[in-house]
This record gives sequence, structure tokens and C-alpha cells, in this order.
Amino acid sequence: MQCKRCLNTDKQYFYKGSNGWYCRKCISFGRAMLAEDMTPVSLQPIHEESEEYRLQYPLTDAQKEMTEKCASLIQNRQDVLLNCVCGAGKTELVTLSISQMLKEKKKVCFAIPRRQVVLELRERLSRYFPKAKVTGVCGGYTSQTDGDLIICTTHQLYRYYQAFDLLILDEPDAFPFRGNDVLHGIAKTSCKGNLIYLTATPDEEMMKRVKEGTLIMLELKERPHGKPLPVPQVIISSVLMLPLLCVWLNEHQKHPRMVFVPSVNMAEKLYMVLHLFYECDYCTSKSEDRDKKTEHFRNAKNGILICTTVMERGVTIPGVDICVYQAEHAVFDKAGLIQMAGRAGRTFQYPQGDVLFLCKERSSLVETCIREIKKANESVYFVQ
Ligand SMILES: [Zn+2]
Repeated sequence: MQCKRCLNTDKQYFYKGSNGWYCRKCISFGRAMLAEDMTPVSLQPIHEESEEYRLQYPLTDAQKEMTEKCASLIQNRQDVLLNCVCGAGKTELVTLSISQMLKEKKKVCFAIPRRQVVLELRERLSRYFPKAKVTGVCGGYTSQTDGDLIICTTHQLYRYYQAFDLLILDEPDAFPFRGNDVLHGIAKTSCKGNLIYLTATPDEEMMKRVKEGTLIMLELKERPHGKPLPVPQVIISSVLMLPLLCVWLNEHQKHPRMVFVPSVNMAEKLYMVLHLFYECDYCTSKSEDRDKKTEHFRNAKNGILICTTVMERGVTIPGVDICVYQAEHAVFDKAGLIQMAGRAGRTFQYPQGDVLFLCKERSSLVETCIREIKKANESVYFVQ
């Protein structure tokens, strides 16, 4: 006996109800009856030209090579493991594979453990694939579950029995996916084609498959330029925040500078003060012309942009230096702080970048964040 949805074969999870045997291992997703065949979910056909894509910035040679290798392995119906670090451009590395599938009118799903990333990625991939209907499915967003390209949490995969020709699993080693047989089983049964795993830390089972040759591993162990992540400098001062910020802005006047603040309100207030002394602009979730402001900032080469966390991911400005104003503020979380710091030094011409965390008081979160960046640099990068 085997559950057709979660692939469980452990007899102790099978129960006999009034309608027959069912699986209790995946019961939180509804009853899967053992005797009944599960019907593959039927999804709408793919829209014309949905495969057309444009990236925000050009790929490096190493990225390009990996992208093409990955796409051709998928064409040859192989499962692929992309073993790459944060900042290596994971999304960009699978764009070609996605495009090829869409061109063949095949369904692609990008599944991620964390909910907030679904929404961010949905936005990003909509920009990359302007003609495709990109649908995000996660807690709070379940009224629409179909699209040309589906982005969902791993928890939502139970909706898609045998639906996907390509399933991209991001961070399969992260909570809640790690060691969760049910979620792994459901992921497998949602996909009738091939899988791409994206991770910097493949688990034993993946490495076993790599050895067996059933999973092909491609490695990109560097950010595009191979330099370590910039480690933020931390300055703590309860009263001199603004003067310290001005000193920092002056010291880095040859570069574009992004100043992250905890709230829309503070972005506006800080702008009111700073624009008396500097040419600057601000960009928040309430700014309607965000793309335009970003473009203007990028072109200015040494402008100042005050922004909220809405800008923490996905933006690459060559040579940018970063200041997080009130980095200890409760609004910021660790991943966000690491992402903001990671805005610096992303490009080939400017692999270094200056990052300052300006704090009103000491914060264990800021300290943890610095430790993690240092650790990532030690464990992954080849520091010259
Ligand atoms: Zn089951």
C-alpha cells in the first residue's frame, strides 16, 4: 500500500474509515483515499508568448554557462541540483529553463518554503516575464491557483497533483521542508516532469542521488565576481544619528548611496531634512513611480535614495553604498538586514561596497546578522 499523494508506505498511518482506507500521514491536506485513483489536476493552457523574458541586468559568463547547462539538462529530462550561494542570482539561473518550458506550453512551478518570498518572487518574475500570467499562491492568496507560471509555498503543492512539467524547489533544506516526508512526497507527486533544486547546502539524500547519477549537480560557489559579502560597520549613538549619517554621506559622495529607514513616515521626514543639504529622493511602498525613481537613481551615479524595506531585494545598483538608519528597529529582521547589506558590492566593476548599520542602541539581532555574514564569508567564499 502506498499513499498516492504523499507516497507514504508506512502501514501504521493507514486507517480504515467508513469509505475505505485512507492515509493519516498527510491528513492535514484532506483525506487521500488509497483505493481511489487521484486525478491529475487540470490547469489552463499556457498563454502565447509567455516565454518572452528580460532580465534586469546581464548575466556574467559563469552565470550564463550555468543557465544554459541547466536548461539543456532539463530538456534532456534530467533532475538538476543548482548548488549556489546567496547573491549568485538563483532566480536568474533558472529563467532560461522556465522560458523553454513555457515555449513548449508546459507548466512550471516555483515552490519556496517561506510565504513572504512567494510574493516578492511573484513580483520579480512578473517583471522578467511580462507577457506571462504569474500567479502567487500562499496563505491569504489562494483564490487564484492557476497561471502560466505558479509561485507557491511548499505547503500549497498538495493542490497540484501531477500538474507540473518543471518544479523548481528553492531551499529544499530549509524549514519546514527539511526532513518533512509529507511535504517531500507531495512535491514529488505534484510534478510529472523534472525538478530543479536550488540550495547552497544540499542534504545527504540529494548528495546520494548525485553520486548515483540520478541528480546532476551544477555548482556556482561565488557571487558573480567571487568577492566576499561586505561586512557592515556598526555605529551606536542615541543622539547623534543624523550628524553621523551626514558624515557618512559626505565620505561616500562619489558613490550612489541608499539609506534604508524603518518606516514610510521616517523616509518622508528624513527626506525633508536631507534635501535641504543634498540632492536626494525617497522611495517607499507608497511611491507610485518606484521604477522611475530607481532608474533615475541608477543613472545619477552618485545620488542619494532614502528607502524602506520595499527596496531590500531585487535591486542592483552598481557601486552602491548602504546605510541602514536605526538598524536595531523592530521592523527589520535578520534576513532583511542581510539582504540590505547584500545590495552593496553586487557587480563586477564594484565588488566591494561600504555598509553601515547606524543604531540607536545595541541590538542582538544586528550582532547576529554581522556574525552570519562573517560566517558565510568564511564557509563559502574564497577570500583573497
Ligand atoms: Zn498520504
